[in-house]
Amino acid sequence: MTALLRDPLDAAALLRAGALVAFPTETVYGLGADACNGRAVAEIFAAKGRPHFNPLICHFADADAAFAQVRADARARALAARFWPGPLTLVLPRLADCRVELLAGAGLDTLAVRVPAHDLALAMLRAFGGPVAAPSANRSGRVSPTSPAHVMEELGGRIAAILDGGECAVGVESTVLDLAAGGAALLRPGGVPVEEIEAVIGPVGRPLPPEAAPAPTLRSPGLLLSHYAPALPLRLEAREVAADEALLAFGPPLPGAAITEQLSLSRDDREAARNLFGALRRLDAEGQRLGLRGIAAMPVPGGGLAPAIRDRLARAAAPRA
Ligand code: AMP
Ligand code: MG
Repeated sequence: MTALLRDPLDAAALLRAGALVAFPTETVYGLGADACNGRAVAEIFAAKGRPHFNPLICHFADADAAFAQVRADARARALAARFWPGPLTLVLPRLADCRVELLAGAGLDTLAVRVPAHDLALAMLRAFGGPVAAPSANRSGRVSPTSPAHVMEELGGRIAAILDGGECAVGVESTVLDLAAGGAALLRPGGVPVEEIEAVIGPVGRPLPPEAAPAPTLRSPGLLLSHYAPALPLRLEAREVAADEALLAFGPPLPGAAITEQLSLSRDDREAARNLFGALRRLDAEGQRLGLRGIAAMPVPGGGLAPAIRDRLARAAAPRA
């Protein structure tokens, strides 16, 4: 049985007992465990079916707590001051006395850290008082959850509890920035637009688009091509749609689809990000029920959160491994 919790103190108590607790953040729901408890961390990988080479992000109540575990240079401190709490994850070198289990970082000498901008998450983290490892609270490779109902669908019965914070405000995962290798490299576009990061620290290396990128390397082991995948095939950059397809619309919808979900009629990137995973889930469930051939996604051009949306859609459309 997976309990639905309202009180962040109850969530913290479960974490202390070594249990898995899904909790809301501004991006998506995370699947949390005590990052210093090897058994609890191992349970995250087991519950998600996540490969052990894919490291987890550690969540903290504030920047001081995060920077007690990793080496933060001036750029990391400037970014933390500007964007934390918020949807930016920094990959930094582990300190020699870092308390986080090596397994949480997949054995790497770096650790991904962030402070989420969500009152319930912060209250839980403060009450718990230590690092909380938390990937997205979905089965590995599937669509990320942006509501307690999504988490229940994905992990109900496999985890102790879900802290109920309603719908997530941002809707796509955090931007992951690697500062450990000397330069600054974007590992995953996300909730903080890269332009805003560059305004603070200067030029950031951009990844190749997912379909053009080489196989994941040790530096960014989580950048698997196929991810966020619905069961129905997804077709990108649709300019027309067939009667036996579901449509993921961005702006005035193409005519003729069997069913349609709208990301943002006014083509607002933030509204579209917030709607993305829920819309994909609904089209996938309803499309399968109706026996449709697949989902056609209209183009989502532009900057801001649009690159993160295009990244998720490209991975959702990629051939399964
Ligand atoms: P998730 O928490 O499931 O949304 O995924 C976390 C993302 O951060 C994955 O793409 C990971 O590969 C990436 N990540 C976490 N830790 C590190 C690290 N130490 N170095 C590089 N990438 C990381
Ligand atoms: Mg994930």
